[in-house]
Amino acid sequence: MHPDHLAVVLDLSPAHWHRPPLPLDRFLAHILVFLNAHIAARPENTLAVFAALPGRAPLLYPDPDAADQPPPADPNVYPPFRRLDSIVTARIAHELDSLTPDESLLTAPSALVGALTKALCYINRLNLATSQVDPRILVLSVSPDLSTAYIPIMNSIFSAQKLKVTIDACQVFGPDTVFLQQAAHLTGGSYLHLTETSALLQYLIMSFLPPPAIRKVLAVPTQDRIDFRAACFCHKNIVDIGFVCSVCLSIFCQPVPVCSTCRTKFPIKTLQRLNASRPLATPATPSSARPSPAATPAQPSAETPRHRAPLLTGEFAQNGASSQPVTNGSKY
Ligand SMILES: [Zn+2]
Ligand SMILES: [Zn+2]
Repeated sequence: MHPDHLAVVLDLSPAHWHRPPLPLDRFLAHILVFLNAHIAARPENTLAVFAALPGRAPLLYPDPDAADQPPPADPNVYPPFRRLDSIVTARIAHELDSLTPDESLLTAPSALVGALTKALCYINRLNLATSQVDPRILVLSVSPDLSTAYIPIMNSIFSAQKLKVTIDACQVFGPDTVFLQQAAHLTGGSYLHLTETSALLQYLIMSFLPPPAIRKVLAVPTQDRIDFRAACFCHKNIVDIGFVCSVCLSIFCQPVPVCSTCRTKFPIKTLQRLNASRPLATPATPSSARPSPAATPAQPSAETPRHRAPLLTGEFAQNGASSQPVTNGSKY
């Protein structure tokens, strides 16, 4: 078996760590034991820790400044544990101290996708060098879903699938997140929403410490219900029923005459039919019906079948466990 590379994303969003059900120092104590267990499991195991803070996602471990000033030796502590603990706690203290007291910063969402992307880039670099590691990412999140992050999260999921990276997600407290559930499901990882935050370490050790190959034997908790809803590209709302462009697979919350991503024009008859068949007779306001150009994601690939008759299909996953996610086509 190959050694494991574990990348951990710590959601340190100040807005959600303000009066949390689990104090931050206790959270970090659980995390440090878990990280120590990972490096103790095999000497070849590698680790990277990223923080998700408002507007940035710094690397905490290995120490990016590489001062490599080893902490004073403690005869009672295994030196790699001591190094890991002192670097991670010092870096977190440094990052939290450097937050400005600006209120807007405190309410700004944390850069969870930025941290996820950095973790993937780091793994990509490692793979090029050795290609002998089994990489996985564990996201410890406390923030609710940020619907503007839908497209970048889906792009990260597709990159993870390509790199064969498993994404595990643990919502430590706060509401369930739809996007992390999908990330775990689509990459073969586990998603856990903790009901008892004081047992965090136990959940981490049981569910996320063993590599995916061993989890098959261990009966790690799995999701019996996955929320497959997507966010529309026009307003970034999470929608129950969406309308999918048949050419580029962009998702809209209401029938649109022209796809804002690939500029395909849809027949007026299709539009009328779809508008007539919508379950809720909400009158479409002309101003909001036109998607803003800023909402457009990356251009679709050149081999898009243009010859196909464009039709705006209404097929979209309802909030159900059995439906396939509409975004499964890796077309972004
Ligand atoms: Zn919309
Ligand atoms: Zn399109």
